Amino acid sequence: MKHRIVVLGAGYAGAFAAGNLARRLSPADTEITVVNAVPDFVERMRLHQLAIGQDLAFRKLADVFAGTGVRLRLARVTGVDPERRTVAVTGEDGGGELAYDTLLYTLGSSVAHHGVPGVAEFAFDVTARSSALRLRERLAGLGEGGTVLVVGEGLTGIETATEFAESRPDLSVALAARGELGAWLSPKARRHLRQAFDRLGITVHEHTGIEAVEPTRAIAADGTSIPADVTVWSAGFAVHPIAAASGLEVAETGQIVVDRTMRSVSHPDVYAAGDCAYAIGENGRPLPMSCASAGFTNMQATAAIIARLTGSEVPTTGLKYYGNHISLGRRDAIFQMVDGDVRPKSWYLGGRTAARLKSGVLKGAGWGIAHPTFGMPKRKRRLATAPDRSDARVAA
Ligand SMILES: Cc1cc2nc3c(=O)[nH]c(=O)nc-3n(C[C@H](O)[C@H](O)[C@H](O)COP(=O)(O)OP(=O)(O)OC[C@H]3O[C@@H](n4cnc5c(N)ncnc54)[C@H](O)[C@@H]3O)c2cc1C
Repeated sequence: MKHRIVVLGAGYAGAFAAGNLARRLSPADTEITVVNAVPDFVERMRLHQLAIGQDLAFRKLADVFAGTGVRLRLARVTGVDPERRTVAVTGEDGGGELAYDTLLYTLGSSVAHHGVPGVAEFAFDVTARSSALRLRERLAGLGEGGTVLVVGEGLTGIETATEFAESRPDLSVALAARGELGAWLSPKARRHLRQAFDRLGITVHEHTGIEAVEPTRAIAADGTSIPADVTVWSAGFAVHPIAAASGLEVAETGQIVVDRTMRSVSHPDVYAAGDCAYAIGENGRPLPMSCASAGFTNMQATAAIIARLTGSEVPTTGLKYYGNHISLGRRDAIFQMVDGDVRPKSWYLGGRTAARLKSGVLKGAGWGIAHPTFGMPKRKRRLATAPDRSDARVAA
């Protein structure tokens, strides 16, 4: 009987983790299945580029996992039953149930509407490929002078507004910030950011919380109306409700509460990584939803799974941020170094060098996922014990 590892989601956390598990565990006694809703590895960090019309090619997951032994199941996860150790899926093949011995949950996140009226009906977003493509179509049909309002001054909002303004100088791009633009950056980096916004002609509405979205405008808390042929909602990420509904212990955010090894605190057969894990970083605070966190958490989760299955000591991997890297279009960027408490250091890198570095980071993340067998050890590790199936009532 092989130990069945099921990985839910093949984004930055899941795709990398599946490759890493396959690279290091022997197929003689483990079976790794990845379930993903779409056939491609979608580089979410580039979806604002996709939305503004840039041509991006996403790799087929079937090619990514070819020759690795990882089984790919293209299906949508609809539920998890951690007591019976099963996952419910629907797909073109009809769907059904998948049984697991170890589950790695990495379903990522989607846009957070925060219950603001009109967002679900009228706003666009760049958090998934489907929504980015819908926005791409809308923007392609928007003529000269068309107004675009990006709501949210986080990293995604800034990257989206600058990318749109650089690629489509014919549009009038604005950004609504609840606070001050770049308030979390060092003074020099903030100055750089403001200069980039000025250069790109982006209007900034600071201290402007948007309380309603309508088809051609957004309404701020003080009643101000901001014209917007297109409103792009970029006010944070929210996780899918599947984890909360499954009975796994979740935080208020709906993220799965995990220990230092990314193991669910309520169900030891379940691990979580990426946006959907409520993981505490080395500074004692929850890790933010980001690709960097997806990297830290999937490395820790896979290290823990491998160690526990092979009977070795569980290593701890780093859960610490060194900096934030924000694109400002294709030719400019800011790399802000931070201290252990994620406070900005005075040092930052800006301009073309930072843009080239960011481009390298994006390419590196994609390359690492596309080459899961790179650095394959000569001997894969065997399991210490056979899986305990005593309480598993569903056949694979
Ligand atoms: C435009 C944009 C720019 C960004 N830029 C940065 C950046 O510069 N730096 C940074 O650190 N972070 C950035 N992020 C955030 C980063 O992309 C996410 O934090 C990261 O993708 C999280 O990785 P993940 O593996 O948890 O989730 P994802 O990468 O979202 O992967 C989740 C996977 O699960 C699949 N899935 C979801 N639901 C289901 C289901 N029900 N059934 C089956 N499969 C499902 C999805 O198809 C996907 O393949 C950006 C995000 C966006 C949207």
